[in-house]
Amino acid sequence: MSADGTVPACPHVLILGGTTEARRLAEVLAAARPGGSEGSADPVPYRVTTSLAGRVASPVLPPGGTRIGGFGGPEGLAAWIAAHRVTHLVDATHPFAERMSFNAARAAELSGVPLLALRRPGWTLGPGDAWAFADGLAEAAALLPGLGSRVFLTTGRMGLHCFAHLADPWFLVRSVDPPDAPVPPRLEVLLARGPFTLDDERELLARHRIDVLVTKDSGGSATAPKLTAAREAGIPVLVVRRPPVPEGVPETATAAAAADWLRGHGLARRT
Ligand code: NAP
Repeated sequence: MSADGTVPACPHVLILGGTTEARRLAEVLAAARPGGSEGSADPVPYRVTTSLAGRVASPVLPPGGTRIGGFGGPEGLAAWIAAHRVTHLVDATHPFAERMSFNAARAAELSGVPLLALRRPGWTLGPGDAWAFADGLAEAAALLPGLGSRVFLTTGRMGLHCFAHLADPWFLVRSVDPPDAPVPPRLEVLLARGPFTLDDERELLARHRIDVLVTKDSGGSATAPKLTAAREAGIPVLVVRRPPVPEGVPETATAAAAADWLRGHGLARRT
């Protein structure tokens, strides 16, 4: 959107992605665009670009344009927004991608484009759950030895170094790509990409005689069955709490609500 509140003839949405929700938003917008599969629900053309950090070797690419790699901080992102005439910015990064959410807020300020956060809600404790909480991976590593000795660690491959000094517990680590050193000495790596079924998770916990699960509070349905399987098996779950988010950024929980917000901010209105 420009300084006078009007939207140029071809608006351009930049989605900061790396999540199921980001991909879903790109799909919703692609389907609603003129020529899209939903019979041109939106009246005017617009461009959509999804940005990925480049952490995953073979990412599942969304429809629309894509770009891969960091921007060089908030100023770099603001420069990219100006150079590519971005009119709307959506921070649909993972709830634990703390730095990028703050970069997005600052870049939106610098460029004057409207910013929306598309963030799935966290998980909520239910009857029968035995959850402990940690603020960050280092605290999780400190609490872990008191909770179990056969650990299913699902916090992703990036923070494994926080657990590398733990010589006694045995770890099953599930990640999309292999982790880099340093890692805990007693470790088995399972390369897999969600979603995972409840039956798969039950079988995994039983086969590896898991007695504690460690997870980030990522939310969403794709990886929630592990929590149900842990509850059924009476296994404690160590939940890493979410990091802070920038203040004052409007937030939606679903791709459909994000698309509505974009339309309410001029995406599909001719000026
Ligand atoms: P982060 O700590 O918040 O970001 C670190 C740096 O990576 C940012 O400063 C930025 O570099 C670059 N970056 C992050 N997301 C980007 C994006 N969508 N497009 C372009 N550059 C991006 O993020 P992270 O925790 O390393 O996560 C990286 C990506 O993986 C995110 O896109 C996130 O959605 C996805 N992801 C993260 C987790 C998790 O648990 N953290 C889980 C699943 C998926 P510049 O400053 O150079 O722009």
